[in-house]
Amino acid sequence: MTTTVAAYAAPAAKAPLERTTIERREVGEFDVLIDIKFAGICHSDIHQAREGWGEAIFPMVPGHEIAGVVSEVGSGVTKYRAGDRVGVGCMVDSCRECENCEAGLEQYCLKGNVGTYNALDKSGEPTYGGYSEKIVVDEAFVVRIPDGLALDVAAPLLCAGITTYSPLKHWNAGPGKKVAVLGFGGLGHMGVKIAHALGAEVTVLSQSLRKKDDGLRLGADHYYATSDPKTFDELRGSFDLILSTVSAPLDLDAFLSLLRTDGAFVNVGAPEEPVALNLFSVIGGRKTLAGSGIGGIRETQEMLDFCAEHGLGSEIELIDAAEINVAYERVLSSDVRYRFVIDTATI
Ligand SMILES: [Zn+2]
Ligand SMILES: [Zn+2]
Repeated sequence: MTTTVAAYAAPAAKAPLERTTIERREVGEFDVLIDIKFAGICHSDIHQAREGWGEAIFPMVPGHEIAGVVSEVGSGVTKYRAGDRVGVGCMVDSCRECENCEAGLEQYCLKGNVGTYNALDKSGEPTYGGYSEKIVVDEAFVVRIPDGLALDVAAPLLCAGITTYSPLKHWNAGPGKKVAVLGFGGLGHMGVKIAHALGAEVTVLSQSLRKKDDGLRLGADHYYATSDPKTFDELRGSFDLILSTVSAPLDLDAFLSLLRTDGAFVNVGAPEEPVALNLFSVIGGRKTLAGSGIGGIRETQEMLDFCAEHGLGSEIELIDAAEINVAYERVLSSDVRYRFVIDTATI
């Protein structure tokens, strides 16, 4: 028996989201039924609901920053039981047998992972995300939210947290390393908190100095405006790692000039259009231009445990579901400090 649950969905590309109902599959042998408590609004929800990243599946229930409580488990479930505090991030399945899945890199599954929404699951049914009352997910794609983390500030960690934690770890952010976080929004503010907790010297590169006080309060050592050309002179050759959370077009050559020899510029934000690059910008100084996408399930659990240990949650603005469309406009104009989180009780 499927379960009918209330949700907020975009009926078509670029259409406003509206309240509706969806069906959740029967709880299978290895499934967990989760009462969703909070769902973060990620910029990629907007990209997808508006088909900025290509053709999408409608109606669409976005949301891949999900925090809730287990209410029922299948007979074969061993990791969770009713009452457990859990999270679901950007994927709900993968092939589980390719070399990347074997290595705990399900996000890079060679057959493609199954997105939490705007995807088809293994039975060919569309997946629906977190802007809803309940979700059914295989326990292998569910993570535990430690008791030390409140569910509302934990929700954004499931995308914004892991998307910044994974590359910071991979490129060895830590003591003695100079890390710049480019963009100070939903992803960027988590990047600053995590890089600081890892022990790196952290610089924020933001368009303006408007959020400087917040940046320094949340763990940045320095804060510069990229709209000021002097920033590029002053910081030339400074950083071991630049983590770009920006999804708008960038002057990559200018930012690559801020790296030290062997430094890496890592993109976690994705502009909708291809970018231009002068390859001499990476040849001189043996620099790396790279990308990184979320993290595997094991690493997502590690990130949540790390955040609980260091008292790191997201800075959030809690909203009612009826405010989702207004929140989307505010995200697009960078008017949020720093993540909207939907109280799903209001759906
Ligand atoms: Zn996201
Ligand atoms: Zn795989």
